[in-house]
Amino acid sequence: MSNVTTDPTVTVCASDASAGPVHEVLRSKTVTLGESTQVRRLLPSLDRRMVGAWCFVDHYGPDEIARAPGMQVAPHPHIGLQTVSWLLDGEVHHRDSLGSDVVIRPGELGLMTAGQGIAHSEQSPDPHAPYLHGAQLWVALPDEHRTTAPRFEHHRDLPVLDGPGMRATVLLGDVDGARSAGRVHTPLVGVDVELAAGADVRLPLEADFEHAVLTVSGSPEIGDDAVDGLAPGLDVGALLYLGGGRRELRLRAETASRFLLLGGTPFAEELVMWWNFVGRTGEEIAEARTAWQAEIAGGDGPFGAVRGYEGDPLTAPELPPTPLRPRGRAARKT
Ligand code: MN
Repeated sequence: MSNVTTDPTVTVCASDASAGPVHEVLRSKTVTLGESTQVRRLLPSLDRRMVGAWCFVDHYGPDEIARAPGMQVAPHPHIGLQTVSWLLDGEVHHRDSLGSDVVIRPGELGLMTAGQGIAHSEQSPDPHAPYLHGAQLWVALPDEHRTTAPRFEHHRDLPVLDGPGMRATVLLGDVDGARSAGRVHTPLVGVDVELAAGADVRLPLEADFEHAVLTVSGSPEIGDDAVDGLAPGLDVGALLYLGGGRRELRLRAETASRFLLLGGTPFAEELVMWWNFVGRTGEEIAEARTAWQAEIAGGDGPFGAVRGYEGDPLTAPELPPTPLRPRGRAARKT
């Protein structure tokens, strides 16, 4: 059943607008990764930086890659976060500095906990499936767990809630008693919901959580009749922020639709997010960057080599000229 938080660092602030239900549609921005891969970035955005501990949401594809290299991300470091790899079509070959060497396929969860430091590469295998479609998500680690030892989990058998018109796969957390084995460090939930054409169903939620939805196909209508009614169909490329205080959602779909539901206890700590690092101060981020640059120049360091990857690791970008400052979960009103 659901995990009720007792963590004093993660609390709902009574004056926070997100304590109650809202309908806030946030548009994605298109970001080019590497040579050519385009992704829709839904978090962080100008208006909202986090949903629970979810601090980064990229949705990519479906892309036709039959005669293309597909995803080719060279070894790069992370600290202070978990990466969640979720595929809707195709596959991704994950290697990391712990020695993990696995292919992640649709329906399987790749969960990498960076903690104090890890490096990994992500590639479409050769040969690969003709289409690539998925989501790359990050979860911020709370202060008391953010320097934990790195680990990688590959869960091939996730709990599924199957009912008339709906199939929901629980990536992380718990829905209606179906709990993912993925290890998390704050109360949160991640669900892949598939609705059949004509579906009109309900999904229970944790009232303590804030939630958001991104559509990966179709145009689901989402809301709660008792609270605010159904929002118009949510198209691909937008994030619907739902706020908190909801015990359930009504889900309707005229055509087959699929979306990811992300939620969690509002994250009270302020973060510094830069490149692939999540920290608390600009100095800490600069130290991580220096350590990575020293490692790729041949030195020892906290991240480690990604064995089996052929090619050079990524070089960190230059730090911005202005200091990196911690920021909260919502846009700062000044
Ligand atoms: Mn990464």
